[in-house]
Formats: sequence, C-alpha cells, structure tokens
Amino acid sequence: MTQTAQAPAPLSACDEPLASRYDVALLDLDGVVYVGPDPVPDAPENLRKAAAAGMRIGYITNNASRPAAVVAEHLSSFGLDVAAEDVVTSAQAAAKLIAAEFPKGSPVLVVGGQGLYDALEEYGLNPVRTSDGSPVAVVQGFHPDVNWVMLADGAHAINAGARWYATNLDLTIPTAGGKAPGNGTLVQAVRAAVEVDPVVAGKPEPPLLETSIERLSARRPLMIGDRLDSDIAGAHAVGIASLWVATGVNDAHDLASAPKDQRPTYIAADLSALGEAQPGVEVDGRQHTSAGWTAEVVDGRVTMTGEGKPYDGLRAILSATWKAVDEPPRPSGRTNRRGRRPISKNVGGAGKIDIDAALKQVGLVS
Ligand SMILES: [Mg+2]
Repeated sequence: MTQTAQAPAPLSACDEPLASRYDVALLDLDGVVYVGPDPVPDAPENLRKAAAAGMRIGYITNNASRPAAVVAEHLSSFGLDVAAEDVVTSAQAAAKLIAAEFPKGSPVLVVGGQGLYDALEEYGLNPVRTSDGSPVAVVQGFHPDVNWVMLADGAHAINAGARWYATNLDLTIPTAGGKAPGNGTLVQAVRAAVEVDPVVAGKPEPPLLETSIERLSARRPLMIGDRLDSDIAGAHAVGIASLWVATGVNDAHDLASAPKDQRPTYIAADLSALGEAQPGVEVDGRQHTSAGWTAEVVDGRVTMTGEGKPYDGLRAILSATWKAVDEPPRPSGRTNRRGRRPISKNVGGAGKIDIDAALKQVGLVS
C-alpha cells in the first residue's frame, strides 16, 4: 500500500458482496461493533457471516487505554471469534513509530495507561513512569487515570528534548454518561507548556491504518466506520475503500455536507451490507439514479422520483447534492418574459441544498 494510492470514487458500485470483493475489513469499534459495553444489534451475526464468506476481520481502535488482548476479550463476549492479533490499537501504532526511530530498550515516558505499556514492550521499548531517566520519547494516550503530575512530567521531558508522540487527537470520547474530554484535549493541555506538536498515530493520520494493513496482510482492505472525520478521512489518507454505516455518530445530513476527503466509497445502514452488492449511482444530466430512486437538485432542494430501499435513495440524494455543491450551475443567462431578471435555477452552494423532504420520501426520517 503506497501513500500515493487513491481511494475509489465516492458511492462506487460493487457488483458482488463487499465481503467477496475485499479481503480484510478494518473495523472501527465504537458506533460500528459496539456502543459502550453492548454490541450494535446484529453486528456480531453480520461479522460471523462475513468471516464465513472468507473476509478477515480486523478491529481498529483509536482508544489507547486498553491492551489489544482486553479489547479482544470484550469482543469475544459478543460471541465473536477474536484473538489479540486481530485487534490493532493506536497505542501499538504509536509504539511502532517510536520503534522505527529509536533503538530497542530505549526509555519512553508513558502519559497514559496499560494499553501503552503493553504496546511499547511488544515493540521492544522500555516504558517508564517518570522523566528522571532522560526518556528519548514521550507517548501520550487516553487513560482515565492520567493526572496533572503525568501531564507536567511529559511536558518537562519534551522540553528537555524527548520526541513527543500522541496516539490520537480525538477531542472527546463517548462514555456512559455522555461526551467526556478525550486524548486530544489532554494533548492540548501539554501543548500549552511546550513548543512542538506531537507526531500522531491514530485515525485520520495514516500510521494506525498502515500498521493494520501490514499486520493483517491486507491486499484489498475495506475501512468501515461511523465517523467521517476519522474513519472515512483516514481511508482517504491511505488511499483505500471505505464503508460508512449509520449505527454511530454521523448521519445523512453530515454525509450531505461532507468535504470531498470525507466521502465514503459505500454507504449502508449497518454491517449487513458486507453480504450485499452496492448499486452505485448512474448520472444522466442532472438526474442521479441509484437502484429504483432518482434524485435531482431543483431550486436548491433535492426532489425524488421512483421507489426502493432507503439507502439506495440516500445514495442518489448524496450524489445529486455533492454535484450541486461542488459544481454549482451558473445562472443560465436566459431572462424571464419581461427580459429583466436572469433566471437562475439550481444554484446551490455549500451547505445550502435542502434534503429534508427527500430523506422523508425515501423513508430515512419520518
Ligand atoms: Mg466510531
């Protein structure tokens, strides 16, 4: 996999089940496989079917707090067949980056928890708890026990010349009680006391996905996620195909307003899509057709004709919307009957296309 590879075009067609076309699934966890401690409904069954169809399933997480073996145990409790080697964490991706820069046994200060200690040892490095022994690097990843003393010690080591690595820059993490500050927020606290930026391992930066592709020996990987700004953007960054599923944080409106480098190759309600083909979109003039639905942008809003499945409708809606946003048609220059006002039709512009009625018509909102 080279970094110059380009992800397939958004909303591409796939004429066979995704689990046949792609050899390895790189699955984001939260919002795709589980939400908090519980599995996403039917996710384990859909993954068992994909595995039975020959797809290798990899589990990829930006969360550095838990070692891969602990994540594997959690997933196994859903009835999935998961070994520690099937899980790749941002802590491991960070450790791999550090191991590529410094000799084996080098002391690395941990601002984080067990996930980072295990990952550093796995890559032959020496995790340490204080800056006393002149660590060559500082690695920072989320753990609930990270405190001010650890943040301050990290800043001291960085200011003394240690190279700074962050597992990820997610500003928030989901918890049972709602959103809470994530690693990115704690990185900002350290950044206030140092003069450099960290090297980042997790999505959407390439190292985590590159580590996963290498570890799982993927030749045709498919990144699967719920977040456009990390999962789908990460797939674009390493030039691989992506599947967005609707079981997590982003929704149809987020997709409609997504910048080009956050638009997925495929979209679906959930992981049952792994067992299905994807129809893609046919564009004929201003008409965007996916399976039985045809979408067209008229006067800044999407109108629908036809019938069919909701996500085929959404595919047509997104294709029409993105085209209108990317290439707003210029006023035609024609004038009305009195010859005064130019008639300007279909003039959209970013974020101005109304998709609400269309979403209702295809059955995605009531
Ligand atoms: Mg997620």
